[in-house]
Amino acid sequence: MDAVSNGNQTREVKGEILSLGFLAGRLCLFESKISVPDHEATYVDDPAAEIERFERQVANVIGELERTCASLRDISFDAEADIVQTHIYLLKDPQFRQGVRRQILDNGLTAQKAADKVLGRIMSTLEESGTWLTERTLDFQDILNRLESELFEQESAFIESLQHISLHPVIVTHELLPSLVLEARRLKECAFVVEKGTTTSHAAILAKSFGFPVVRVDSLVEVGAAAGRDVLVDAIHGCVIFNPSAQQVDKVRDLAHGAPVARPKSSLVNLWINITDPIQVRPEVLLRLEGVGLYRTEVLFMASKGDFPSEDEQYRVYRRLFETCKRTPVTFRTADIGGDKMLPYFSLGPQENPFLGLRAHRIYRFHPEIFITQVRALFKAVQSQTHLRVMYPMIEDIEELRFVQSLLSEAIDSLKSEGAEFRQEFLQGIMIEVPSAAWEIDELLKCVDFASVGTNDLLQYFLAADRNNSNLATDYYAQSPGFLKMLKSLVIAADRQGKPLSLCGEMATNRAFLPLLVGIGFKDISVDVHELDRVDKILSRLARSQCEELADACLHCRTSQEV
Ligand code: PEP
Ligand code: MG
Repeated sequence: MDAVSNGNQTREVKGEILSLGFLAGRLCLFESKISVPDHEATYVDDPAAEIERFERQVANVIGELERTCASLRDISFDAEADIVQTHIYLLKDPQFRQGVRRQILDNGLTAQKAADKVLGRIMSTLEESGTWLTERTLDFQDILNRLESELFEQESAFIESLQHISLHPVIVTHELLPSLVLEARRLKECAFVVEKGTTTSHAAILAKSFGFPVVRVDSLVEVGAAAGRDVLVDAIHGCVIFNPSAQQVDKVRDLAHGAPVARPKSSLVNLWINITDPIQVRPEVLLRLEGVGLYRTEVLFMASKGDFPSEDEQYRVYRRLFETCKRTPVTFRTADIGGDKMLPYFSLGPQENPFLGLRAHRIYRFHPEIFITQVRALFKAVQSQTHLRVMYPMIEDIEELRFVQSLLSEAIDSLKSEGAEFRQEFLQGIMIEVPSAAWEIDELLKCVDFASVGTNDLLQYFLAADRNNSNLATDYYAQSPGFLKMLKSLVIAADRQGKPLSLCGEMATNRAFLPLLVGIGFKDISVDVHELDRVDKILSRLARSQCEELADACLHCRTSQEV
């Protein structure tokens, strides 16, 4: 038996920091798959009740799929609707239903295990066939996923159970998902230990913005075996310590709390903050800032239960932000839904590549009301002193920009025709996060007042490397000479057009890249509110001339290795 499973010996597992911070607490496993005896999640006492539950959940999933199917047909997406329809047929198939019922009744399996077994059998037959049918396994997997999420409502129930334990929970889960992080907001404090995930994933970005430390370890086997034990998540040095001593906890705490930073604004760059919730903007922080450089408004939509937040709900949230910010500029990014930012109550239908599929304004082509409602709420909330900067995400080209601008005008016209009073002065900007926009930067800048480079997405689309895939950590590298040249070309174009350009991706919080970005010529940088002190500290040690020399050298490198 090793020290972890053995008992009280202190032991450390190294990992990668996905979100800074530290927490001493108790290890809680989220997924039953992590080192939990199989029988715990496999059998039920009351098979009849389980069958009833299964039927109810299947009916819910069918209802959801039928709604998706109808909305796809409405917009003439018949091929996509047909795919959804096959999922409905599968779920309605009496043989499948009967198979699951038998497994529950005869073997006392949970509905999820039973469905897993029945669909699993079909999937392996298809897989072994080695024909085109192999691809159909994905359909079954999708159904299984839907059923699982319906059957368990796992995340919500899990977090609820944690609310009753006194020690700070350290949640162990295979993959950090945005929905779980959002649920975790109900806890005062928590930390995560995961096996999959990257610093630029939206889940990690959310964890950062809520102040939840996250460490990624290579394997959860050891960690899982320590469930229920005391643990220190040290997302400052990058490790997880089991049975930590009081001195170890104190040492990390002292380091984390450090000397309070009370510096004047940096002279090298203007610092802005990225937020996901107006609650994160504290008046004393505003004094050191240029403004809010990125308000990820879609998080409000992701956190909403059951349906889209109404115009009135949105209005109240935005108004709070403007009241706090007073004259400090606020960059309000219109909702960037899609990709890994799914809404539990709004299905986009099956998509093989969600990051290349319906995202942001692509959704508004079919559902303009989402955008229009948001903009109406926004303009109603604006205060007389507000410096509003409206920013559109994922803009690919002029057509897309014109399209969202026309929707914005529509929203404004609707307010005017109602006689609503609101302030119409605002700046419009775009995010540069799709390579096509970088190629069209001059033309795009002519149509807007400012732009902000979203390196998280720009890098993923530039290198065709998923920002969420930790196996691609060495492929998703911002030190790619081509990428640095692209950034430099954006700075030059913005100068040429006389338009302000900022950078709001996670790259700016990396101590290795920050000097390079200063040297490349970025004058405005927006970082997560929790990273502010650290970034400020790094900036205070930099000299512009050295940053420029560094950038010059890097821009002449031929390989990432050289950079
Ligand atoms: C980005 O892509 O760099 C960005 C800031 O937007 P998000 O991380 O929300 O996709
Ligand atoms: Mg982005």
